[in-house]
Amino acid sequence: MLDFYCQCGNSIFFNNTRCLRCERRLGFLPEARRLTSLEPLGDGRWQVPPAGSVLGRIYRLCTNYSDHNVCNWLVPEESPHCLCPSCRLTRTIPDLTEPRHHALWAKLEASKRHLVYNLMQLGLPIIGRDQDPDNGLAFDFLADRDANTEFTERLAGQAQINTGHANGLITINIAEADDVARARMREQMGEHYRTLLGHFRHEIGHYYWARLIDNTPRIDEYRALFGDERADYGAALQQHYSQGAPADWQAHFVTPYASSHPWEDWAESWAHYLHIRDTLETATEYQLVAAPPWQRDSSDFDALSHRWTHLAIGMNAVNRSMGLPDAYPFVLPARAYEKLGFIHRVVDGYENPAR
Ligand SMILES: [Zn+2]
Ligand SMILES: [Zn+2]
Ligand SMILES: [Zn+2]
Repeated sequence: MLDFYCQCGNSIFFNNTRCLRCERRLGFLPEARRLTSLEPLGDGRWQVPPAGSVLGRIYRLCTNYSDHNVCNWLVPEESPHCLCPSCRLTRTIPDLTEPRHHALWAKLEASKRHLVYNLMQLGLPIIGRDQDPDNGLAFDFLADRDANTEFTERLAGQAQINTGHANGLITINIAEADDVARARMREQMGEHYRTLLGHFRHEIGHYYWARLIDNTPRIDEYRALFGDERADYGAALQQHYSQGAPADWQAHFVTPYASSHPWEDWAESWAHYLHIRDTLETATEYQLVAAPPWQRDSSDFDALSHRWTHLAIGMNAVNRSMGLPDAYPFVLPARAYEKLGFIHRVVDGYENPAR
C-alpha cells in the first residue's frame, strides 16, 4: 500500500474519508490508484485539486460512500455507474435490517477495496459479472442465521462451494468480519493467522487459477509444482478435516490447509504472494526496507524473496517487542518459494495494457 497526502500536506490513509488536519473530504481515484482530497462543487460533485494526472476532473462519491458510508471511492461525473469499481463487484450485501450487519458490511467492503487495489497495482485483470456473465467476478456476503452456532458447519460447506470459484463467484460468510467470531474460529482450527483480508486474498486465488492457469499452457508446470487438481476435491477436503495435514507438511506447503488439495495449495500460495507484494510495497514506501535494486516489473523473484525474508524477520521481532503475536507467523520451505516463484512469473508475465 502506498502512502498518500492531502493537499494540506497531512498524511492520509487508504480508508480515510476526511483529512484530520484540514477536514477536507477525501476520496480514492481508482484509475489513478491514489487517495486525494476534494473540493466541493455542490450537487454531489467534487473536484480533484489541480495536481497530478487527473487534475481538475469532476467526480461523484460512490453511492455506497454517500448513502451508506461503507466506501470512500470516487466515480467520474460522466460515468453511467453509481457505484465504484470495487462496490460493483458485490452481488449480495448483508441484510441491513439486522443492526449489526452494517458494521460487518463496512469491514468486508474495506477489505475488498484493499484487495482490488492490490490487484490493480499488479496489473491483474478484474472482469466482473457485467462483462462476463458466466465467469466474471462477483461477491456474495452472506450471513448464517446464527453466526455463533452455525459458523463451523457453514465454513465446511463453503469449502465445497470453493470449487464454484471456477465460475467467479466468491461467497464470504459475514461472520468472518466479526473479530470475536473469527478469533474463536482461528482457535478452533489451530491457526496462527486468520484475517478478513487473508480470506479475500485466498478466494481470489481460485478466481485467478481459472483465469490464468486452467486451460492454458501453464497447466503442466502448475501440476508439476502443486500436484494434479483432478484428484477428487470433496474427498480430499473430507480427509483433511478428519485426519489433518500430513506430518511432513512443513517441507512442502505454506500452511497445513494448503496440503488438502492442489487447488487449495494454489489459493494459499497465491494469498501469501499477495501478502508479500503488498507488505513489501508498504514497507518500501515507509522506507522500512531498502528500495528494490531492480526495475518495478522485473521478474527477479530471488531478490524479492530475499527482501521479504529480511522484512518478515524484522516485523516479527518488532511485534515481539510490543508483546504482540508474530506479524507473519510462517516459515516457508524452499518448495513453497518455488511455488511463489511460479505465481510471480504468472503475475509478472500477464500482458495487460494497463501496466
Ligand atoms: Zn488536509
Ligand atoms: Zn464504492
Ligand atoms: Zn480455497
